[in-house]
Amino acid sequence: MNSRSLCAAHVLGLDESHLVQLPDSPHRLLPATAQAFCQMQQAARADGLDLALASSYRSFARQQLIWDEKFQGRRPVLDAQSQPLDIRTWGDLARIQAILRWSALPGTSRHHWGSDMDVYSPSLLPAGASLRLEPWEYEAGGYFAELSHWLTHNMARFGFYRPFADDQGGVAIEPWHLSHGTDSIRMAALLTPETLSQALSHSTLAGKACILEQLPVLWQQFIAPTLPSGTAL
Ligand SMILES: [Zn+2]
Repeated sequence: MNSRSLCAAHVLGLDESHLVQLPDSPHRLLPATAQAFCQMQQAARADGLDLALASSYRSFARQQLIWDEKFQGRRPVLDAQSQPLDIRTWGDLARIQAILRWSALPGTSRHHWGSDMDVYSPSLLPAGASLRLEPWEYEAGGYFAELSHWLTHNMARFGFYRPFADDQGGVAIEPWHLSHGTDSIRMAALLTPETLSQALSHSTLAGKACILEQLPVLWQQFIAPTLPSGTAL
């Protein structure tokens, strides 16, 4: 796979032909990201930590299922304190903004790219507990604080960074979400408001009319991708 064979369908989660499957795993990533992840996993293991994928590639269709269930009140939408909100009586724009704190609009998820992943440590999860992917699990005192600390100090050696490290009023912090620098830059270059708008207008997404109308504002606050510091497209 070379960069010339990537196109808008790949960045939108509509084409999976750019991905490779990891050994003994259902997860799929871009080739360079997969190789770097396996090397980082070995280094973590040498330091006594198991590093596993909770999520890697996700298609537009899968993201739309999550989106539609949240929009229609069939799946919880959380507030800043990880408490469920009842958004069923809210207007479309308020619902969309609440969902976008934690879930990407289909077509804009970094999980479409193959360069991005959610990680955790199965052995640090207490028996009977289920993985939530909420910030407290990764903060001081949380199950995965040790893994999170290790990643902070080691991930850059393998080319990874955290695109959701700071909360600037858009997407909430996601310490579990890692991105491969060079691969993410290649993918981000393919995502434009025009290609996104075209894909959304052909979809059956819940809240579509409001999303298309508000796209320029939503793009600025929630969609414009964060890249490694110092990178400009
Ligand atoms: Zn993620």
